[in-house]
Amino acid sequence: MPPTTLTRRTFELAGLDVPALEITGTGDGPLLTVLAGVHGCEYAPMAAQRIWARGLADRELRGRVLAVPVLNLPAFRGRTPFVVPDDGKNLNRCFPGNPEGSLAERLAYDTFTKIIKGSDALIDMHAGDMVEALQPFALYDAGPAEARARDMAGAYGLGYVIRQEPGPDRAVAGTTSAAAAEIGIPAIIAEAGGCGLVRRAAVEAHVRGLTRVLALLGMSEGPAGPQQDAPPAYLQRFLWLRSQDEGWWEPTAQAGETVAEGQVIGTVSSIDGTQTLETITAPADGVLMFVTSSPAVAADGLLLGLGAS
Ligand SMILES: [Zn+2]
Repeated sequence: MPPTTLTRRTFELAGLDVPALEITGTGDGPLLTVLAGVHGCEYAPMAAQRIWARGLADRELRGRVLAVPVLNLPAFRGRTPFVVPDDGKNLNRCFPGNPEGSLAERLAYDTFTKIIKGSDALIDMHAGDMVEALQPFALYDAGPAEARARDMAGAYGLGYVIRQEPGPDRAVAGTTSAAAAEIGIPAIIAEAGGCGLVRRAAVEAHVRGLTRVLALLGMSEGPAGPQQDAPPAYLQRFLWLRSQDEGWWEPTAQAGETVAEGQVIGTVSSIDGTQTLETITAPADGVLMFVTSSPAVAADGLLLGLGAS
């Protein structure tokens, strides 16, 4: 059998030359696509993917892995959190995209049609953004492939798994994983890291997760990496809290903390410090999955995400 080969590729996506690695194994198997940098300042997943993908060249592999370490190049280059700087749109709200739209919408469209559509499984790697502290978790979407996606999310091993389904309660729409789920591709969003940092624990958590999913999909002979200490906690709801007014955000609870319904988890006060504008309380029992770390908050600004059962 020929050895595992690693090929450097460039995808032309919305006029951008996006680098990727394609790793082709020695036997038949699925195509696993791994994205990072859908948000351009989420560095821990990018770092993990760079290490992991090139390391696959030394391993026995069945099938193929397509690894894109930094999809949102304009945001990466400009160190712009959350959005594509050219149009101010969040790329992970634009899938499956629009070929006639703005840059974020065209980038989503080209990524969906040229990369995601042909995949047998998708891992979209994220972290808290430049101003978000985050408790690691994985997310998957309701749909025809959700049993497989749930297994992938559990195997990634981040402690918490959240299921999202379409409807008014859904925290976000237009994501990579939702668009993939709609066409029957098992997909997860894996979140570890945050605050614009490349912390070793988060990088290692992502590397372990990728390796475990590779094993789950039957693409590698073990070792699948160290097993989890405990099975993940499965959460059914993901509640995002926003401020009404602009001001100074001061959380009193941290990412990863368990909170009770009604518990005070922070305040928004006037910039001059003389007035409390809002007292933020937990809308349900749950765990804080991410908390905005920056005090600067706009009107309708995102404060935190709560995972609830
Ligand atoms: Zn992200």
